Amino acid sequence: MLKIIHNPDKSLFGSSVESFLHRLSGPAAIFVEGKDRSRTRAVCTLLHGNEPSGIYAIHQYLLAGTTPAVNALFIIGSVKAALAEPVFSHRTLPDMRDLNRCFKPPFEDQQGEVAGAILQLIHSVKPEALIDLHNTSGSGPAFGVSINDDADHLALTSLFTNDLIVTDLRLGAIMEISEADVPTVTIECGGASDASAKFVAQEGISRYLAAESVYADPGLDYRVNIFRNPIRLELEAGSYAAYANVKQLDADITLPENAERLNYGMVPHEEPLAYLSDKGLSVLTAKDHDGNERLHEYFECRGDQLFSINPIKLFMVTTNAEIAASDCLFYFIGCNE
Ligand SMILES: [Zn+2]
Repeated sequence: MLKIIHNPDKSLFGSSVESFLHRLSGPAAIFVEGKDRSRTRAVCTLLHGNEPSGIYAIHQYLLAGTTPAVNALFIIGSVKAALAEPVFSHRTLPDMRDLNRCFKPPFEDQQGEVAGAILQLIHSVKPEALIDLHNTSGSGPAFGVSINDDADHLALTSLFTNDLIVTDLRLGAIMEISEADVPTVTIECGGASDASAKFVAQEGISRYLAAESVYADPGLDYRVNIFRNPIRLELEAGSYAAYANVKQLDADITLPENAERLNYGMVPHEEPLAYLSDKGLSVLTAKDHDGNERLHEYFECRGDQLFSINPIKLFMVTTNAEIAASDCLFYFIGCNE
């Protein structure tokens, strides 16, 4: 279920990330002894098989043979999905649930069992903190996501980036174990093919594992910008998004091919976001963390185009029609909030 490996010798790591993953062959947890063996810090990655920056950084860290300041626990999730050809193109294997939505009961199917085993391990090891490394599906800068914005979460975030999304939404993501006293921050390192994403993961991991303490130093200002409770713009079930620069007549919504350029930017109300079909806004939903529908408060249809009513800021804009249908089109916050 979850292979647990203590102080592996170098032969496990192989010469490339791919050969390393082949040797692991499934979900794995690797313990590396630190200088201080009384404490442990955890790093999780590859919950999504198409988000490789974290595993590249971990592989490099292990190859370098550095002794971390405290014990390190590396948790590597969707190894099989990552290895499915073409490598690093599958978020999950076909017909499997998204592993980063499975960290809440029931833990019954295969993905639930993996998530349950990871949670059990974390609860028995009681790490000081957990960092979960991801890539965004579009290109863009790095940011953190957390359910908590206390000083320790800001300090952890600042090892990787200066922007933190704080959400009250509960989806069954691993970062939700912050509620069980393991400060956890998800780091979206940027797009999988962004050169900067690899650096964010590498630099962040070496800082995280080298620091004497990763908790907040009282009186230090971590200069982390906080964006609270972004809302997900989702497609209603059975609706279909296309990515093209001209309106696609068979799609319910057509977003620009380079929609990811909207990542992190402020979108003024006079800039069209997408083309809509004659079904208009009815194919969309934007529920906040309390489950209230907010669509008409933020968006309107003018002609056959989608506009925001007031300026909004977008995050995690995808250009992958499959992710748009199964997850969301993007996250947004109003600029005046
Ligand atoms: Zn992810």
